[in-house]
Amino acid sequence: MAEKKDYYEVLGVNKNATDEELKKAYRKLAKKYHPDANPDNPKAAEAKFKEVNEAYEVLSDSQKRRMYDQFGTADPQGFGGGQGPFGNGGYYSYTSSGFDDFGDLGDIFSSFFGGGFGSRGSRANNGPEKGADLKAAIEITFEESFLGCEKEIVLNRNETCKKCNGSGAKSASSIETCNVCHGSGTVRQVVNSLFGQVQTQKTCTNCHGTGKIIKEVCEECKGKGTVRKQAKIKIKIPAGLDDGQTIVLKGQGEPGKRGGAQGDLYIIVRVRKHSIFTRDGDKVLCDIPITYTQATLGAELVIPMVDGSKEKYKIPEGTQSGTKFVIKNKGFKSVNGQYQGDFVFTVNVQVPKSLTKEQRNLLLELAKTMNEQPPIKKKGIFG
Ligand SMILES: [Zn+2]
Ligand SMILES: [Zn+2]
Repeated sequence: MAEKKDYYEVLGVNKNATDEELKKAYRKLAKKYHPDANPDNPKAAEAKFKEVNEAYEVLSDSQKRRMYDQFGTADPQGFGGGQGPFGNGGYYSYTSSGFDDFGDLGDIFSSFFGGGFGSRGSRANNGPEKGADLKAAIEITFEESFLGCEKEIVLNRNETCKKCNGSGAKSASSIETCNVCHGSGTVRQVVNSLFGQVQTQKTCTNCHGTGKIIKEVCEECKGKGTVRKQAKIKIKIPAGLDDGQTIVLKGQGEPGKRGGAQGDLYIIVRVRKHSIFTRDGDKVLCDIPITYTQATLGAELVIPMVDGSKEKYKIPEGTQSGTKFVIKNKGFKSVNGQYQGDFVFTVNVQVPKSLTKEQRNLLLELAKTMNEQPPIKKKGIFG
């Protein structure tokens, strides 16, 4: 590409050509200079083909076209430099406007690259990579969630091999720089095509992108750099944590690669159901059975708290079944400890299922004084 031809001239269109006109011109020329159509002089055809392609590549891209119109080049790196889209060091993506919608022409191109249009060389992956996050679950009791607790979980995870410090090599001298990619982890591949030399970057297959070759692997980890270990991890569960909430332990996941950070450990906390208490937000709820006489006459109840203590609470006479009472600040603490919810209990009047003769007589005496309606006699279906 010693001398640059005018792209519009190359395609034989004027400077105001529409995208449609460009495409049409390009299609025509690409067919004309296809080497198969020029068996007598494939070299010359190839050069022309390349030129046509370069022109179209720029003009079909509105941004590049604007640049070209303005500066006479569409190469952002080197104005006037020798780096055309197919020149040295150019990364080239075939996905830009040109090829996908060409139908029959697509076949021409795919025959050059084995169908690899649009496939850029894969990026080097020899940079630091964060280790995998791990997940675990733990079950605690209602009381433990109320009071907070410390737990230990046991899990299997990969840990950095202590013997080789994660390098995977037997010793420092057994690590060599990959002689294929010279440590970069990527290789440039030059494909000789009808477009000229096309360069792509690919992950080095010799070192799998690490840039290093291990001559002798660590015996402990067999070169992986990590070993599977059973880890016991202590977890502090703060008071107030609710069922389904997650604790994140930073850096307790698996080791990172190439100096990357350790992954994290996510622990989902399951709170077991309690036989008498339930939770509603920061409230503790509880049903308290009371007797008919307690409800009628009023009573001092002893209410069990979640922490095992007891609270005395006076209910007034004439308490109806289903009435809720609130004991302030005896509910769940907020996880940050800023406030505490309430304890709410609901009284349920228990109707005795059997009475002694004496109790029965007392109740009958009572009933007489209360002007109660006589019990309604149920009529049977045929009654
Ligand atoms: Zn390599
Ligand atoms: Zn090792």
